[in-house]
Amino acid sequence: MKPVIALVGRPNVGKSTLFNRLTRSRDALVADLPGLTRDRHYGEGRVGERPFLVIDTGGFEPVAKEGIMHEMAKQTKQAVAEADVVIFIVDGRQGLTPHDKTITDFLRKSGRSVMLVVNKAEGMKYTMVTADFYELGLGDPYVISAAHGDGVTDLVEESLDIA
Ligand code: GDP
Ligand code: MG
Repeated sequence: MKPVIALVGRPNVGKSTLFNRLTRSRDALVADLPGLTRDRHYGEGRVGERPFLVIDTGGFEPVAKEGIMHEMAKQTKQAVAEADVVIFIVDGRQGLTPHDKTITDFLRKSGRSVMLVVNKAEGMKYTMVTADFYELGLGDPYVISAAHGDGVTDLVEESLDIA
């Protein structure tokens, strides 16, 4: 069985951009419109000799009780349940949001291994871009640029080690 990595985070943090880089596909829809990728989306990737499955999710709106946001949250929960490891992405340019904290609470309850990843970190100092996120209590964040590829291979190798 290939290990399963789920990409989780609020809309527009760069999940689909990372998914595309990991699977080298254009399958996941990347857009400037937040929340456009609404379905769970599976792909296959490989680092070195190690294959894995990755699930892109359409974002996470845990407060919604019905409607499209509720459906997206349901799908994200299912993706987390299927995952061996969760890559939880936050936006280093926007900083910490209340929404990130809600997702953290959910992930903690899920019992899954979680890697906190600060995306959009290209050209930024580690201490600056990560400072906000320590209060989530998920340890030292990884920093990547999904768009440029910085840190992505290391991140996947680490996540497969704990999967
Ligand atoms: P999703 O909603 O989490 O799937 O986010 P997307 O992958 O659709 O990306 C949302 C926006 O962030 C798009 O405009 C991307 O080009 C941009 N983005 C994604 N990754 C990066 C990155 O590493 N750096 C920067 N500067 N922008 C990024
Ligand atoms: Mg997306």
